[in-house]
Amino acid sequence: MFEDETIDIDCPKCRHKNSILVSDFEQSAESQFVCEGCKATIKVESAAFHDRLEQLKKEVDDLEREATQDTRKARRPRKDDFQI
Ligand SMILES: [Zn+2]
Repeated sequence: MFEDETIDIDCPKCRHKNSILVSDFEQSAESQFVCEGCKATIKVESAAFHDRLEQLKKEVDDLEREATQDTRKARRPRKDDFQI
């Protein structure tokens, strides 16, 4: 479900934020990309990447939890519904 997600990785050289597709990284333990800002080749180690991925998963989990709570809240009859 993260295939279409992107993460932002700061270029260590020019600080340009590069949006990288998660699926590009899941295929290999170590990956590299070309910075959009300075065209340098940035190597991304899997450990660092997986930290970011864990953060991303946590955020998605939080969003899903909120969505579930919202649904429950909406379905639960509120006190106001019974007042005429
Ligand atoms: Zn750069």
